[in-house]
Amino acid sequence: MAEKLVPVVCPWCSVGCRFYAVSANGYIRRIEFDYDHPTIANRGKLCPKGVASYQFINSPKRLKKPLRRVGEKGEGKFEEISWEEAYKIIASKIREIKETYGPEAIAFLGSEKITLEENYLVHKLSKAIGTNHLDFPGRYCQYSNSPARTMVFGSAAATNPFEDIAKAELIVIWGHNPAETAPVLFGQYIEKALDNGAEMVVIDPRSTRGHKYASLHLKPYPGTDLAIALAMLNVVITEELYDKEFVQERTTGFEGLKESVKDYTPEWAEKISGVPAEEIRKVARLIATKRTAFLVNEGMNQHVNGLNTAIAIANLIAITGNIGKEGVWSGVFPGAQCGFCAAMSGIAPNKLPTGKLVTDEAAREELERLWGFPIPDWIGLDLTTMVREIGNKIRMMYIVGGNIAKSMPNSGWVREQLKKLDFLVVQDIFLTETAMYADIVLPAAAWFEKTGTAISAERRVQRTYKAAEAPGEAKPDWLIIVELAKELGLGEYFKYEHPDEVLREINKVIPVFKGATPEYLAEHPEGCFFPCSEPGEGTKILFKNGFKTPDGKAHLQPVDWREPPEMPDEEYPFWLTNFRLVGHWHTGTMSFESPSLQKRWPEEYVMINPKDAKTLGIKSGDLVKVSTRRGSILVRAEVTEHIREGVIAMPWHWQANFLTLDEINEKTKMAELKAVAAKVEKV
Ligand code: SF4
Repeated sequence: MAEKLVPVVCPWCSVGCRFYAVSANGYIRRIEFDYDHPTIANRGKLCPKGVASYQFINSPKRLKKPLRRVGEKGEGKFEEISWEEAYKIIASKIREIKETYGPEAIAFLGSEKITLEENYLVHKLSKAIGTNHLDFPGRYCQYSNSPARTMVFGSAAATNPFEDIAKAELIVIWGHNPAETAPVLFGQYIEKALDNGAEMVVIDPRSTRGHKYASLHLKPYPGTDLAIALAMLNVVITEELYDKEFVQERTTGFEGLKESVKDYTPEWAEKISGVPAEEIRKVARLIATKRTAFLVNEGMNQHVNGLNTAIAIANLIAITGNIGKEGVWSGVFPGAQCGFCAAMSGIAPNKLPTGKLVTDEAAREELERLWGFPIPDWIGLDLTTMVREIGNKIRMMYIVGGNIAKSMPNSGWVREQLKKLDFLVVQDIFLTETAMYADIVLPAAAWFEKTGTAISAERRVQRTYKAAEAPGEAKPDWLIIVELAKELGLGEYFKYEHPDEVLREINKVIPVFKGATPEYLAEHPEGCFFPCSEPGEGTKILFKNGFKTPDGKAHLQPVDWREPPEMPDEEYPFWLTNFRLVGHWHTGTMSFESPSLQKRWPEEYVMINPKDAKTLGIKSGDLVKVSTRRGSILVRAEVTEHIREGVIAMPWHWQANFLTLDEINEKTKMAELKAVAAKVEKV
């Protein structure tokens, strides 16, 4: 059988590398580089996850038939049923719950693992059923940075293409470990910037790969980044280092900001964060005087006070004029390449796919004319509140490609909540920890087994194509939604035979994707940058001629210091934080089923500083018990200088979320995932 080269976007991180799957007879034989790809990051480079990216699709654990639960919830006992039966059961349960409690008792989750088209259809189906309870697990990824940037700049999206990182004079890596979480970006652009003479500054309680290139490494206690950001604003303003012309012409609110940070001196921040005041001053001065790329990520984001930190950093970017021009970079950096696919199809409890609010009557009516059915006008529940309301307001959940029993904070509690649902449908490629609680599990086709659109962290929209057949009776998520809609009597609104038809509808509904047509993307392997108003007219640099706010100016927002909700004390004396490994992805659903990754990164561990380890009598390799007020887990110790004293850290792919805190920021609903009080004991 002749081999075919099929272009595929990598299924993992939001760098969005594209390569060829070498396919024959419906199977993928290997991956080959796309050396000729005109602009994309991976000319001849892929990270370990990229190289292994097709392995999980051949796992013997893939779901091949729809399943119905026959045992207790969480027990994992299911029987195989036909698709017809599965659709009938789900449709009748939806009707029953709507009749008994109303459509507002049903909640949907989209996913950062499925395409733009598929997220759009999940959104459309939830509205057709009559509910706005809609969210996705990415709620816990970027929902500090994203709303903060929208408040200050009017849009959260990345300002520049990745290639501009290589042109920066200073790279600030804040709560981010791109050498492991975005390796191709690190090798292709950050290293190029360093070769060009750029300086690099890292702000992170851990030392990680790539940090050795940094001229300065600030190591704050977890959850205290806000103090550092406020102190940097204080330095830039009191030393009059800000870009006066930019502030005058392109921002509002400077005087309020100046007043708000006057007491937040570096000495004040040193007491809170443990970072020497002189180091904070030095970095603030560098940012004010150099063209800076800000790579800010989950280490800063995943905190209850993350919104204030992200606003403070956005203020800093604005007053130093590091935006709206070539050679700078800032933006959101989702952990998943399809985080944008969910966010940009409006997967949120308050939005329409157009990006407008569900409460905007004119916007709703416009979409109703196009879709042909009424859209509910109330604001739905976010993911955290949905799970809290299970058994009360929420009776049924429909989860597509999300593993919230492991990805949500305080996951032991989440599992207990899932047991209280009247009905749970999970659509996935494996029997995940979440699927174990489902009444019906639907087998989905994996990445590589379907065609669709992906979006990277530089706003690049590109197409990925089907290279392999799905196993057994598994079907693409878009087709499952279409067939279920037909069973629900909604078929007239879901007349799609191919994802191209869904994308053509998206071209009409979502203005920023108007020009990202299936035909244009097929002919242009480099894709286009959204907003893309016409085919071939993408936008490489945002905010060149004004921000997306009503007056076109950046709105500087004063914010105050806010303590993390839980601090170390006598009983739980350590800060516990968590991180991602280069070889694993999210809850491991796919990477644990990739043999080369699992072999190289087989298990979790907890990092402990040698001084703390000595006090506790712990050596590397010892089994230790790590506990927080939510629970305890057993894990091996790694004694290392790469973590500062008083802090312990573990990768989050395994059990870390049994320990994290579900207290949320009331505005963003972001939980406290990265800074909780913990104790560690030798067992
Ligand atoms: Fe895939 Fe990200 Fe690695 Fe590129 S850097 S190969 S997108 S995981």
